[in-house]
Amino acid sequence: MKELNFEKYDAVVIGAGFAGSVVARQLANRGKNVVIIDKRSHIGGNMYEMYKKNGIRVHLYGPHIFHTNNQQVFDYLKEFSEFYKYEHKVLGKIDEKLVPIPFNFTSLEMLFSENDAVEIKNALLENFPKKKKVSILDLKNHQSLIIKKFGEYVFEKVFVHYTAKQWGVPVECVDTSVINRVPVVLGYDDRYFDDSIQFMPLNGFTDLFERMLDHSNIKIVLNKNALDIVKLDIVNNNILINDKVYSGTCVFTGAVDELLNFKYGALPYRSLNLVFEDYDTDFYQTNSVVNYPNEEEFTRITEFKYLTKQNLQNKTTILKEYPLKFDERMAQKRDPYYPITNQENNEKYNLYKDHIDKISNLYLVGRLAEYKYYNMDSVIDQALMLCDQIENNKK
Ligand code: FAD
Ligand code: UDP
Repeated sequence: MKELNFEKYDAVVIGAGFAGSVVARQLANRGKNVVIIDKRSHIGGNMYEMYKKNGIRVHLYGPHIFHTNNQQVFDYLKEFSEFYKYEHKVLGKIDEKLVPIPFNFTSLEMLFSENDAVEIKNALLENFPKKKKVSILDLKNHQSLIIKKFGEYVFEKVFVHYTAKQWGVPVECVDTSVINRVPVVLGYDDRYFDDSIQFMPLNGFTDLFERMLDHSNIKIVLNKNALDIVKLDIVNNNILINDKVYSGTCVFTGAVDELLNFKYGALPYRSLNLVFEDYDTDFYQTNSVVNYPNEEEFTRITEFKYLTKQNLQNKTTILKEYPLKFDERMAQKRDPYYPITNQENNEKYNLYKDHIDKISNLYLVGRLAEYKYYNMDSVIDQALMLCDQIENNKK
């Protein structure tokens, strides 16, 4: 790595997930010479997909489904892949039944007596006219007793234990924006997302990334922790690469606390133990994802054939997700998958951000670098906007 002459690159991008790869491609399109570095052995970040020995294509870092209302983001991705329509549907195991999640009128009818279901549906439609979905918190705090009791039931059966497993703390301690990612649906729409655009790349995300980074102005370096060579001189607000001041553009998409050597303390994240299992059978379950909001230690099981639409007989692969604490001292062993956003942590993040803002040629983008619970479409959108900012030299 020492032999790489960084001075000849207009930009150094750290991390080859969506944040870094979109930035690298956009800068390359604008004539810049870019080097993109990732500490993993592959590009794609958490979107990476690979083929297992049995031929099944799996998402190595958990199931990733593209959904957005942002047409510009979708149009951008279409430059690098064809897409097929895929509307994600999830079931949840409640009282030994598999019912649609988000909880909807079908779930209600499956779990309540006919009379109770009719009464609850009528109360919901009367109290939330014209609304297609509603927050579980609005239901459980509602003044109507029927709705409040229904809200408390769904909260207990769907949210309380899943959230405690996922975040390692009681549901009351988790930011409401996290819980509100999954609403209660006032109707029979059984899709997990209601975005207007829901598609998957024809040959998977890794193929899309290969095309995105296939540009004569982009050099890819893998298996390299960039922080071994990239240091910040926080006295003079300079970036040092191999001990020399680097005056080009540096875009960082990793964990920002690591970049500043945990100067303001570690930012908390949640991690996952991802356990894959292969079976010699056509299918393991009836649809792509089944959530386990209650007794089980894992939160969900994904069966990849439903996502990839691969037509392989007598073979299937599933993934169980076991949430885990992330400890920065174990960073080599676990990945920081989820930023834990709340006021205290956001304030700590802002200390890091204020510091980075003083370095005029250093930019942060992405789920880890911005410490936001972003879906991929938001990351792509942020990365596209950052490139305009860099072009206009507006930091
Ligand atoms: P990442 O993909 O994490 O990329 C960052 C890269 O930087 C990594 O490859 C890392 O190795 C590299 N890196 C970090 N530090 C260094 C360093 N020091 N040196 C070199 N390289 C470094 N979004 C959706 O839209 N739909 C979904 O269904 C969905 N499901 C998800 C499921 C799970 C389990 C998780 C965890 C996330 C999910 N997301 C989903 C979110 C999505 O993964 C992210 O929004 C997106 O991948 C973030 O891209 P990124 O480039 O910011 O980060
Ligand atoms: N959630 C829940 N029960 C479910 C699904 C989700 O309690 O069956 C809550 C939980 O707190 C979770 C959050 O909603 O962390 C967001 O869920 P989402 O499916 O968006 O999580 P992700 O796919 O990002 O892991």
